[in-house]
Amino acid sequence: MYRVLNRRQFVQSSLAAAASIGLSSLRASAQKADEYIEAIVIGSGFGGAVASLRLGQAGIETIVLERGRRWQITDAGDTFSTYQKPDGRSTWLSPTTIVFDSVPIDVYTGVLDVKRGDGIIVYRGAGVGGSSLVYNGVTYQPTQELFYQVFPRTINYEELDRVYYPRVRSILKPSQIPDDILQTNYYLSSRIFLEQAAKAGLKARKLDMAVDWNIVRQEIAGQKVPSAIIGQVYYGLNSGAKNSLDRNYLSMAEATGKVEIRPLHVVTTIEESDKERFRIVCNQINEQGTVIAQKSFVCRYLFLAAGSIGTTELLLRAKVNGTLRRLNNQVGKFWGTNGDAVGAVITNGPTNPTQGGPGATVIEHLDNPIAPIVIEQLPFPIVPEDVIAFFGQAIAKPEGYLTYNTSTQSADLFWPSNSANNQKNAQALEYTYQLLNSANSTTLAQPLDFSSTAHPLGGATIGAVCDTYGQVYGYRNLFVVDGSLIPGSTACTNPSLTIAALAERSMDRFLNRST
Ligand SMILES: Cc1cc2nc3c(=O)[nH]c(=O)nc-3n(C[C@H](O)[C@H](O)[C@H](O)COP(=O)(O)OP(=O)(O)OC[C@H]3O[C@@H](n4cnc5c(N)ncnc54)[C@H](O)[C@@H]3O)c2cc1C
Repeated sequence: MYRVLNRRQFVQSSLAAAASIGLSSLRASAQKADEYIEAIVIGSGFGGAVASLRLGQAGIETIVLERGRRWQITDAGDTFSTYQKPDGRSTWLSPTTIVFDSVPIDVYTGVLDVKRGDGIIVYRGAGVGGSSLVYNGVTYQPTQELFYQVFPRTINYEELDRVYYPRVRSILKPSQIPDDILQTNYYLSSRIFLEQAAKAGLKARKLDMAVDWNIVRQEIAGQKVPSAIIGQVYYGLNSGAKNSLDRNYLSMAEATGKVEIRPLHVVTTIEESDKERFRIVCNQINEQGTVIAQKSFVCRYLFLAAGSIGTTELLLRAKVNGTLRRLNNQVGKFWGTNGDAVGAVITNGPTNPTQGGPGATVIEHLDNPIAPIVIEQLPFPIVPEDVIAFFGQAIAKPEGYLTYNTSTQSADLFWPSNSANNQKNAQALEYTYQLLNSANSTTLAQPLDFSSTAHPLGGATIGAVCDTYGQVYGYRNLFVVDGSLIPGSTACTNPSLTIAALAERSMDRFLNRST
């Protein structure tokens, strides 16, 4: 089914093609520097990790181009920097940290990146494993009813539920926080959160987490460096308790012998090369972000998995520069924040708010009379004692969009934070907080904060830019497999599980097609 060309055959066929149409200068680079590979995956987060594993298992030679570096957990427990002592490892190519306080750091290819838009700030990961390096590990499946408030009926929820969600879970192996860990002092906030919900008559429960709780036990026993238990999350977990993708999907992909991951390769351009092939140009950088080489690859199958912002930017650039001429005008549209909001509640006693991560419990207020919402409890390093920090999600409409700015050569992001739907979601969250507060004699510490999201979704959505399996309209061998496919929300859940399940579904389709 897959015709694998080696590099020599590829150069010969490129030259033959050039000669046959009389263009001896056609793509001089094709004659000297292009590296040919059957499939390329851009980005190694959830979409890229799933695509890589399934391509490798199918025997397809694949290169994964990832802008960030590898993050190997060490026995010394010093892979990542900490909230208390951040350095360049915390942040992607920035002279200061970008969350909590703005602390001066060395400019380095660190794990957490920010995209500042008009009306929204977006956080995202960088490195082998994508945003799973910095994520909270929540592995959360939406209900069927809410799923169809967001997704088209061309996606069969029952099939996702039966085949693809379980397939992802079989690899990420998420589990709920065990009671012996929940009962420790570190997880006081999680217990208070569950108690407060019960008093308010709200449904609360433990979440499935991509966390190795045995390692958390070792942290508690003093056998591993304290990380999860002291609330570290967004700069990575030094104990290795987080089951990030480099430790499951991506290592399995590499073990097939068919997949090679190239870290510190920033893709700048994607273009159609000749019939049904793509050329990908990237900058190879060092760990300080300096370009040390420019490389180009040609592939037959191209999988875009640079995340909602990264993939959309590459597509917008290709459209504006005319390197993918058949892209339609829907690129950049239907973007949303997953309805993210941060809140904090003042209680009447100690909460240990900077400990006990990742946040492992949720209140599901899906029958909120204004709009369905969920609230998760999270540790934050800047939250004072007696306060609990919460993180809300709702169904954001995909009212945001990205456009290409030719002067900065990057995408500009716009989010209508005051739209009617966003106001409705804010009211719904406030309603739930009022129930919690009146049942528990607590108060909101500050107004709910909708200024940032860790869940960017959309920009190359199903039905607009891609078909229901992520194949880009107009390009038979070009696929979007990441969060860009999703129109703004994963229906009151954190998105990683749904992104991965949809990628599994797309890869099944791709591998089973006839040519
Ligand atoms: C702080 C934080 C906490 C989160 N917690 C949770 C959680 O608990 N549960 C949950 O479900 N979701 C969580 N999320 C969201 C989740 O991580 C994302 O929804 C998910 O990772 C998106 O998957 P993706 O494949 O679309 O992109 P990503 O995982 O973001 O991967 C994209 C990859 O592409 C790379 N890339 C980008 N541009 C280029 C380029 N030009 N060239 C080469 N490589 C490039 C990036 O470095 C990155 O590795 C969290 C996110 C953040 C930031």
